[in-house]
Amino acid sequence: MEQGVSFDLDLIRRYDQSGPRYTSYPTAVEFDESFNQAAYQAACARSNASGRPLSLYFHIPFCDTVCFYCACNKIATKDRSLAPPYLARVYRELEMQAALFDKSRVVEQLHWGGGTPTFLSHDQMIELMEVTRRHFTLTDDDSGEFSIEIDPREADASTVKLLRQIGFNRMSLGVQDFDERVQAAVNRFQTEAQTMTVLEAALAEGFRSTSIDLIYGLPFQSVESFMKTLERVIEVNPQRLSVFNYAHLPERFKPQRRISETDLPTAQVKLDILQSTIARLTEAGYVFIGMDHFARPDDELAVAQRAGTLYRNFQGYSTHAHCDLIGIGVTSIGMIDNTYGQNRRELNEYYADIDAGRLPVFRGLELNRDDLIRRDVITRLICHFQLDKAAIAEKWDIAFDEYFADSLVKLTGMEDDGLVTIDADHIRIQARGRLLVRNICMAFDAYLATKTGPIGFSKVI
Ligand code: SF4
Repeated sequence: MEQGVSFDLDLIRRYDQSGPRYTSYPTAVEFDESFNQAAYQAACARSNASGRPLSLYFHIPFCDTVCFYCACNKIATKDRSLAPPYLARVYRELEMQAALFDKSRVVEQLHWGGGTPTFLSHDQMIELMEVTRRHFTLTDDDSGEFSIEIDPREADASTVKLLRQIGFNRMSLGVQDFDERVQAAVNRFQTEAQTMTVLEAALAEGFRSTSIDLIYGLPFQSVESFMKTLERVIEVNPQRLSVFNYAHLPERFKPQRRISETDLPTAQVKLDILQSTIARLTEAGYVFIGMDHFARPDDELAVAQRAGTLYRNFQGYSTHAHCDLIGIGVTSIGMIDNTYGQNRRELNEYYADIDAGRLPVFRGLELNRDDLIRRDVITRLICHFQLDKAAIAEKWDIAFDEYFADSLVKLTGMEDDGLVTIDADHIRIQARGRLLVRNICMAFDAYLATKTGPIGFSKVI
């Protein structure tokens, strides 16, 4: 299916509301502490019967300096001596987690995120990968998807070379904006040269995919300034681009209090930046994957989208729908069998559990049948912009229109506005509805319907 996207200012204004990003359904807001270590262990035992491959996510929480726009789980510190005690706990957790999974299950996907994974020294990176290989069976023929988030201020050509040697073949780079005034306002000083060094090294070392993250809506940005950054990025031709909308929520995220609201671009300027960005990336040959993501047509994400196999999980869009995901490290979230389980969010609590020989999973959720059906629907819509009602009906043994009668009523207005078309067999999100895919998915979210008052999610655009 051709994934065109169109920008309709009037529609965007009318549908401007807050909503989940659906990296999971139900969202993490629904997790609770009745899902404990015993429930997690039971899920792991069930998942072994499936023999599915595995995906490992590692959270490295440390950052050398704090970017004022940041809403991630991180610990800002210049103290590199914090890394060894953290890694010691990660190794212990790896051992505990590995004991729950059949060794025959191959790790096809691995991701280091943060924080800043490149906060670790080269020796620490080598060691972390070695210990992982000791406990889990990683693909060793470079066929896996082994990716890392790189802060170009914390990496150079030797880092990239080393990462390739220990098995990584994909990377994403935080850039956000090359404009110096913007960088000063968000406390992220990063030269173009630093970014280009890493990108050139990635190309030379044979990384299969590079992705660049940009953010619009930061202080002092204008259409003109942002387009300058975008042009530089297009010149280096990354396979993927993520263009995130900055959500200014200083009451929730402390570093954002250091951003002066008066320096932020107006809502109109933000929309103008988004419109120009979409137009320019489309012109440069990128495909709109959905929700802030663009990719070259030959990139795996675009290929998977065309083949109907694209998936979405806590790391965003993915091609590994068939894996069970194990989260390692503080705050990490795993997805095993029909459950989500999250590790402790405070470092001292994470350490206390590990030191006591307990798995640090402290909350989560066991999905019921309705959750599974709705997750399937939301995933298909968000990844492929269309839904075959008969396929869902057959898979789940339901009468689609009856089961989702309430959702279909909620979509009526969106159908009238041309966001979606609905017929007897399909729901199809149209080009003008694709930027608003979150709104469309929200119609199928059973939990949102029960909420009153502010729901604590970011704006959909
Ligand atoms: S944006 Fe990234 S590098 Fe900056 S503080 Fe947040 S996690 Fe750290």
